[in-house]
Amino acid sequence: MKVEKLVRKGILNIIPYLPGKSIEEAKEEVKIKRLIKLASNENLLGPSPKALKAIIKELNNIYLYPDGPCTRLREAVAKKFKVSKNMVVISNGVDNIILMIAATFINEGEEVLMADPTFPVYTNVTQIMGGKPIKVRLKDFRHDLDEMLKKVNKKTKLVFICNPNNPTGTIVSKEELNKFLSELPARVILILDEAYGEFVNDPSYPYGLDYVKRGGKIIVLRTFSKVYGLAGLRIGFAIAQEDIIRCMYQVRDPFPVHRLAQVAAIAALNDSNHIRNSIQLVYEGRRYFYLELERLGFEYVPSQANFIFIDFGIDSTKLARALLQEGIIIRPGKMWGYPTFARITIGRMEDNRRFIKALEKLKRKGFFNF
Ligand code: PMP
Repeated sequence: MKVEKLVRKGILNIIPYLPGKSIEEAKEEVKIKRLIKLASNENLLGPSPKALKAIIKELNNIYLYPDGPCTRLREAVAKKFKVSKNMVVISNGVDNIILMIAATFINEGEEVLMADPTFPVYTNVTQIMGGKPIKVRLKDFRHDLDEMLKKVNKKTKLVFICNPNNPTGTIVSKEELNKFLSELPARVILILDEAYGEFVNDPSYPYGLDYVKRGGKIIVLRTFSKVYGLAGLRIGFAIAQEDIIRCMYQVRDPFPVHRLAQVAAIAALNDSNHIRNSIQLVYEGRRYFYLELERLGFEYVPSQANFIFIDFGIDSTKLARALLQEGIIIRPGKMWGYPTFARITIGRMEDNRRFIKALEKLKRKGFFNF
């Protein structure tokens, strides 16, 4: 019998998550020494120096299993965000936390509501559990919460709101979220994915934690991959009311986070200099990109995250190929249904300038349609 016949229902229909091209992969394709990756929204300032020190100190202990529940890090997160440590769960990336949420809550046939496009992992985990992703197209690049409410029915189990949204960088406002929550049935669990929450400077942004603290079925997701600069270590966390976290613990791996990630995360969490500099870099980069893109005549979606969704007016897969020849990796928008757009990570100012220079060079060569 073919192995495929033994697989659980629906598993073979899942479209695998397609990550941004890694520097290692790109090096196989082009022979350029200094490649920059603006494709996966990492923190190009690098990791917190305090995290590096903590890792070096911990190296000799890697023959020992790590602390399974990440006790010290849980306490550090709880202290920083002023919640009880029983309201925190930590795992090897928010990717894995999203899978834990699905494994905890989704029964076969239940519906999971999300925007389209948004972070694709919500769809994958829903399908793995035999649930049904219900997608509501963005309106003007923003979540259409009224339309999402219309799709809520008896089968709805979870709603994902990615805030700011990946790939558009747009936010749902306090007012919009309050209205949505006032109409959402109390049995539906809302997940606010704030992977990019630290980069927001719009005063109308609703911090998910404020909502969690007031009670209710809300899970806030945060990661060490973005502002803290630890994407390669794979570590992220969720904060919710204790009953939700207790249930999620039922599906947890025994040792999901290794020793080096745990100590690095504790150090990075409290490295206020590194956090401030990382956020500053994004603010400065956003301003720079807006000015330069306007000067060059490209339209973009104003962003509250560390990336910008830009319309290049041509097939952006072709543009990605051309930029790779200039040593720059970007994420073309075809996978999100926006084939002329690409999502560009805001890097250090030298990276941003290199990207703009490469665009200018292509424009001079007549690559774009204007
Ligand atoms: N949520 C969103 C919106 C993301 O963009 C990402 C990372 N690309 C994640 C979650 C996953 O983060 P982590 O690196 O912690 O798995």
